[in-house]
Formats: sequence, C-alpha cells, structure tokens
Amino acid sequence: MSIMVVWQKEITVALLLFVLVSIVGGISGWFLHLTLLLVLGLLINQLIQINRFEKWLSKMSGGNYPKSFGVWEEIYLHVYRIRKNNKKRKKKLSKMIDQFRQSTEALPDAAVVLGENDEIDWTNKAARDVFGLQQSDKGQRIPYLIRFPEFIRYLNSGNYSEAVIIPSPINNHISLSVRIVPYGAGLRLLLAQDVTQIKMMERMRRDFVANVSHELRTPLTVLKGYLETLQDIDDGLSPVLTGSLQQMYGQTERMQHLVDDLLLLTRLESQQKKAVCVNIPELLSHICQEGDTLSGRQIELSLETNNNIMGEEQELRSAFTNLLSNALKYSSDDSVVKVRWYVNQDESILAVEDQGEGMSTNDMGRVTERFYRVEVKRSKKISGTGLGLAIVKHVLMRHDAQLNITSELGKGSCFSCHFPAKRIC
Ligand code: ADP
Repeated sequence: MSIMVVWQKEITVALLLFVLVSIVGGISGWFLHLTLLLVLGLLINQLIQINRFEKWLSKMSGGNYPKSFGVWEEIYLHVYRIRKNNKKRKKKLSKMIDQFRQSTEALPDAAVVLGENDEIDWTNKAARDVFGLQQSDKGQRIPYLIRFPEFIRYLNSGNYSEAVIIPSPINNHISLSVRIVPYGAGLRLLLAQDVTQIKMMERMRRDFVANVSHELRTPLTVLKGYLETLQDIDDGLSPVLTGSLQQMYGQTERMQHLVDDLLLLTRLESQQKKAVCVNIPELLSHICQEGDTLSGRQIELSLETNNNIMGEEQELRSAFTNLLSNALKYSSDDSVVKVRWYVNQDESILAVEDQGEGMSTNDMGRVTERFYRVEVKRSKKISGTGLGLAIVKHVLMRHDAQLNITSELGKGSCFSCHFPAKRIC
C-alpha cells in the first residue's frame, strides 16, 4: 500500500471518530469533554506505539516486527527492510574480510598491517614466522620488536620507494627484503620477502668474477711482457708478423682493462666506504689536464663552485675519468669537450658535454648496463669494455648521487652527476 493511501486512511478514521464524537457530544451536551477524550485517546495510542517501536528498535535481533496498523505498519515495514539489507551487507563484508585474511594468511611473504603510530594491527603467519612475532604482539609498536637501525631509519624516513634488506630477527642467516606500502588514512602494509637465496647467488657471482679476474691478471702481464719483447726484437721485415704482434698487444691490453674494470666493480660492490672530504675542483683540474695531454684535444673546464664532496677520492676519480674519456672517445678530434662543476638548487653537479655522435633514447636507458656497447660502426672500432658507465653508476650510487644522460643523435651527449646537498663538505 502506498504511503499516501495509508495517510488518507489514517486521516479518514480520525475524521470519522471526530464526526462520531460531535454527534454523540451534540445529543448528550458533552461535546467538549468527548472531543478532549478523543484527542487524549489518540495521543495515548501514539505514545504506546512509539514505546513499542522504540523497544523493537533496541532489540538488535531485527526479527519480525509486532502487528500494527496504518502508518505504523508502514514504518515497521520500512525499518525492517533496511535492517534486513544491512544485515545481508554486513554478512557479505565479513565474508570478504575473512576470505582476504585467509588468502593473506596463506601468502608466502610476510605481511604486517601497521597503524598510525607504527603499532601492529594484524600479521599473517609468514610474518609471525620470519619476524618471530606473536598474536599477543598486536598493538605493540614495531620498532620495539624489529630493532635494526637500518629498518628504524627506513620506517621513520617516510620514503618507501625502495626496499631495505635486513636479517631476520630470529635467524641472522635469513636475509629479508622489507618494503612498506602506505594505504588508506595513515595505514601502512609492511611486506617482507626472503631473499637469502638471491643474496647468496649474488655473493657467489661476485666472488667468481673477482677470483677469475684476479687469476687472469698474472698470465696477462706475462703475455704482455713477452709481446713487448717480441715487438722489440722484430726487425720489421715481415709486415704480417709486425701487424700480428701489434694486434696481439692491443687485444692483450684490452683484456687487461677488462679485468681491471671487473675488479674495480667487484670492489665497489663489496668494499666498505671510507669517506673523506674530496677537493673536487682540484680533482677535475687534474683529470682534465691528463686528458688534455693524452688526447691533445681541447677540453673546456669551468669551475663555478668551490664545493667539495664527502666521498672516496679514488672512486670519484675513476668515475669522472670514465666520463671524460668517453666524451673524448665518442666525439670527433676537432670538437670541444666541456666539463662544468656548478650548483643548481641544492645539488652540486658535474656535467661532461661533448659534440659527438650522441645516442638514441633506447641506448640512453641501457648504457649503464654491464658490457652494453652501442652497436654503431664507430663503437666497434673504438676499443672499450662496456663497463665504464656501469662503474660510474656504481660509484655515484655509493655517493648518494645520480647520473643523468641527455643525448641527441648526431649532436652530442651530456652526462651529469648530481650530488645531494648532504654530501657537500
Ligand atoms: P665503453 O666506452 O668501454 O664501451 P662504457 O660503459 O663507458 O663502455 O659506455 C657504454 C657505451 O655507451 C659505449 O660503448 C658507447 O657506445 C656509449 N657512450 C658512452 N659515452 C658516450 C658518449 N659520450 N657519446 C656517445 N656514446 C657514448
């Protein structure tokens, strides 16, 4: 029944009652008393209905509603339907939450939901296993339970773009890659993955490369020595022999560079950093002078700041030399190479710019990979190991700096190293 019809019925009943009271009141002469009695009766009836309704509402069961008539029946029906729908929705939601919990509980990776104050809201089984957390730790602040300084620094930093590697608090042979993902209002999900195997493989690869490179050093030195002797005693009568000796010498030298670069990379990956205040203007003057002398090329050095950098001098020298020698190698002999040390916003920047062949956008994204060399005719002729820029990238990473590359085919390239303000000394 529509609500309008119900109201019409309700008003009709009230009017009929009033007419009845008027007739009886008119005959008996008690009109006023009877009208008052009628209003009082209607009021008491409504109060009783409200009282029943309130009692029914406060019963959380939301079961069947009491038998009523007119408007009250409609009200009961409406509220009953709303309650029923809510109950259904609640059931569906709690089923979904249960399913979510079950699936995250079964995840092989550890998951911890953190509240606004780093307190543990929820953990899955893997988290309890690898972090040694208990169900009773709910509500405890996570820095009290995982106390590694690098983890606490990461947690407080608010910058969760990268993961942090820490040992498991219950077994330091297990390495965990921990990452925090913020979601919702102030909530964070902490995810941890067991990377022990990956770390072990990485260490094995590093050790293997270091050992092989080290072992190759002596035979190469011996080979180069004998080749030098043979070149000395070569009378030049056989052009084939002279050419072969030259080629053998060149290739041996190339292999020596390769071995040196590989050893340097391994050192960069494994050695502890020993930072001192490095005088960058002096270092750059040195490197440019050397480059000038060796190549006979024009190098324009512009030192626009006296800023020095906290770091490892040998590593920085190696990175800067690589950038300069690349700029010289991959540009024509009559072009200028510019080296600039300046400040932009908070960063101290070293830019090495050439007017050489440049490279494509695709190559720009890959040149810092180990052994990657751009496949152009020129590059094949120019000797190189493909490790120079990988070394540069590693050195910069160890100095919290970034390598930016801008390049245009046929116009030239600019390699810039961006050092953050915290490294200035
Ligand atoms: P290498 O120079 O020994 O080949 P690098 O790692 O230093 O190795 O460089 C990788 C590749 O990047 C080079 O082979 C070259 O093709 C390209 N490249 C590096 N620097 C420049 C530059 N300044 N201009 C154009 N190409 C460059």
